[in-house]
Amino acid sequence: MSQQIRISAKNLGEVALPDFCPRCFWVKLQLNNRLPFQIFPGIFSSIDSYTKRVVHRWFDKYGSPPPWLRDLGNLTGYMEPPHFSKYNILDHETNILLTGSPDAIFIRPDNSHLIVDYKTAKYTGAQDKLFPMYEAQLNAYALIGKQCGLEPISDLALVYMEPVTDEAAASSDEVHNADGFGMGFTANVHKVSLNLNIIPPLLAKTRAIYDLESPPARREGCNNCQLLEGLLEVARH
Ligand code: SF4
Repeated sequence: MSQQIRISAKNLGEVALPDFCPRCFWVKLQLNNRLPFQIFPGIFSSIDSYTKRVVHRWFDKYGSPPPWLRDLGNLTGYMEPPHFSKYNILDHETNILLTGSPDAIFIRPDNSHLIVDYKTAKYTGAQDKLFPMYEAQLNAYALIGKQCGLEPISDLALVYMEPVTDEAAASSDEVHNADGFGMGFTANVHKVSLNLNIIPPLLAKTRAIYDLESPPARREGCNNCQLLEGLLEVARH
């Protein structure tokens, strides 16, 4: 029996990126994604969870989504996304435990579910280089949901919350308050196709890379491995 791999929906999504590097992925899998020199600013996850609370509190007060989410279509309610410890599935084919919980789950008038992920980022539409990763991430959430009783799932969507930082906003008196200033965000909804078939090949590729006994070749055009080797060389002297 192969060693079980645990991977989040987001990390699995990396495999779908056009500039995916199997060598980097192999290293991350072997180290359980605990790489040195990784500093991810916590502000983005704070904004994502604040967005979630803002939306839910509006729903609680008015029984409908805030007007700026109108592009999500008709919604009658929401449910708190389950904690990732309860939202995971074991893929028996590859012995991979797929985990991760979406930012938001909304309910349609026909009782089907819409899974949403918030992204604090500038909206570039189909130009977003990371879109294949987000598409896989949302479909992985849907696959998990399907097997964890979240049925039926009708739609997936990304909601990009784009900071409003233009001159007009900066010069407006409205942004100031007694303790500091506020910054607005503009919502852009980007629908994502529900296609669970994209997940099994990503799981199979993850298993194949994990099982390699030595790291695969590095990605063409990325010099960071070389820089690291140079750094290690310097450290040896
Ligand atoms: S080639 Fe670049 S992306 Fe690949 S392992 Fe090296 S540093 Fe990471």
